[in-house]
Amino acid sequence: MSRIGHNVIANMHPHTTETSNALLGSCLCGSVRYEVRSEVKAVAHCHCQMCQKAHGAAFGSYGSVPSDDFLVTAGIELMRGYNSSPGVQRTFCGACGSTLTWRESQGAWSSWTSFSLGTLDTLFIPEKHRHVHLASRPCWHLDSEGVSPGASAARGESHQ
Ligand SMILES: [Zn+2]
Ligand SMILES: [Zn+2]
Repeated sequence: MSRIGHNVIANMHPHTTETSNALLGSCLCGSVRYEVRSEVKAVAHCHCQMCQKAHGAAFGSYGSVPSDDFLVTAGIELMRGYNSSPGVQRTFCGACGSTLTWRESQGAWSSWTSFSLGTLDTLFIPEKHRHVHLASRPCWHLDSEGVSPGASAARGESHQ
C-alpha cells in the first residue's frame, strides 16, 4: 500500500489517534462507540436476575469509571435508556440491543458510569474483580468446576 493509502485510512479513523491508553468499546452493530479515559476503578460480575435479563446471559460484567471519563464518541442518537428501578438507568443500542451502561442518579455511585465489559474492543485485564449476588445464579450456569448452583439456591435476590 502506498503512503497516500495509509494517510487516507488514518483520516478515516480519527479515533485511533486518541489518547493511547484509553479503552475503546462498541456495540454489536458498531453504531455506538465509546471511550473510557481513566483507569477502571471497579470491576464486578453481577449475577442478579435483572442483570441476567438485561444482558441475556448468566451474569453481567461491568467496569466503573467517573462519568466524566466515559465518552460516547459515535451513535449517541441510537442509544436508548430503560429505568430498571427508580433512579437506575440502563442504556443499550436501539439498533442491535447491546447492553452499554448502568447508572444510578442517587447514592454513592451517582457520579459514576458502569459500562458492560463485553462491549470493549481494547484488551483489558483488571487487577482485581468481584462477583456479586451469586445466590441468584441460574441453575443452568455451571461454575468453572462444572458445578451447577442447584435448584435449591436462593432465588430472587436483586439490587437494581
Ligand atoms: Zn448497535
Ligand atoms: Zn445486577
